[in-house]
Amino acid sequence: MKILVINSGSSSIKYKLFQMPGRKLLSKGSIEHIAEKGSEIKDHYSGLKLILSKINSVDAVGHRVVHGAEKFKKPLLVDEAVIRKIKQCSAIAPLHNPANLAGILACKKLIPGVRQVAVFDTAFHQSIPDYAYIYGLPYELYTKLGIRKYGFHGTSHEYVAHEAARILNKKLQRLKIITCHLGNGCSITAVDKGKSIDTSMGFTPLEGLVMGTRSGDLDPALIPHIMRKRKLDLDEIDTLLNKASGLKGISGISNDMRILEEKASKGNKRAQLAMDIFVYRIRKYIGAYIAIMSGCDCLVFTAGIGENQKSVRSKITKNIFKHLKKAPKVLVIPTNEELMIAKQTYQLIKD
Ligand code: AMP
Repeated sequence: MKILVINSGSSSIKYKLFQMPGRKLLSKGSIEHIAEKGSEIKDHYSGLKLILSKINSVDAVGHRVVHGAEKFKKPLLVDEAVIRKIKQCSAIAPLHNPANLAGILACKKLIPGVRQVAVFDTAFHQSIPDYAYIYGLPYELYTKLGIRKYGFHGTSHEYVAHEAARILNKKLQRLKIITCHLGNGCSITAVDKGKSIDTSMGFTPLEGLVMGTRSGDLDPALIPHIMRKRKLDLDEIDTLLNKASGLKGISGISNDMRILEEKASKGNKRAQLAMDIFVYRIRKYIGAYIAIMSGCDCLVFTAGIGENQKSVRSKITKNIFKHLKKAPKVLVIPTNEELMIAKQTYQLIKD
């Protein structure tokens, strides 16, 4: 069965075609600059048309959808009700869900009759208990506005947790795993018996670890303070926190960890400080997640930094398990969100 996986963003569509259940990657590619000035690709419909023209046949399509809020706890076959609910979730993910939906609607028109499955980045974290997902805010903000921790990168955390169990030859239901997705965006998840019980990202992907350009955890009182002092409006403070902070903001050099590592090795103090802060925050979260799971059998690193930067991994794990009776296994597992989406799509439609 040929499964096409679509990751439809605001100005790009990435795709991978898998033969399932064998997991064989048949082809992959991307269309960039959709709807940008001077681009020949005017919209997602044209982009997908181009992709489908390169592919002979498709049996099903799996779509990455960033935000499923509390409406989606697992992958679902796309129908009118699912489309309506994804639209409703756009209110809290205005940058992502409309683009994901554009991909779904384009496929519906171009290959009617081919089954489509929506796989949500937030779904894996729907098992987090209320005492971990409710913020210390007036409760009505949760009931009326849906303000709570949702968590992201769920497909990646779920995939590497499954892979860790496979590599260790143990049942996932018997393992306590901490998964560290360290790329340009970073998040860390406590996976207890195969279920996410806490994760560092929150209502948006801004909370938690220090990332390439995002601040991660902050004193919330800083936001009005900085706005007053710097005379920023809402969009400007949003940009400061999401695009000008993190490794880039601290170092004043780059959000790219490879560049920072090189600069730090040549004595650049701000690059070194950015890396130290990055590592320290991760160590703090690992400690917290060991505490909430009463232990840890396995620590997994994935994504750009997690997979490739051994020196960063060594700094994170240095002496961190000294107090535990048995040190967890440390694994590096390349993430493959597209394969996870293909697996989940196949599972849903195979019967
Ligand atoms: P990602 O968002 O997963 O693509 O990760 C991007 C981050 O990983 C950047 O900070 C890169 O500097 C870092 N990185 C380190 N080594 C590599 C590599 N070989 N390929 C891609 N990203 C890398």
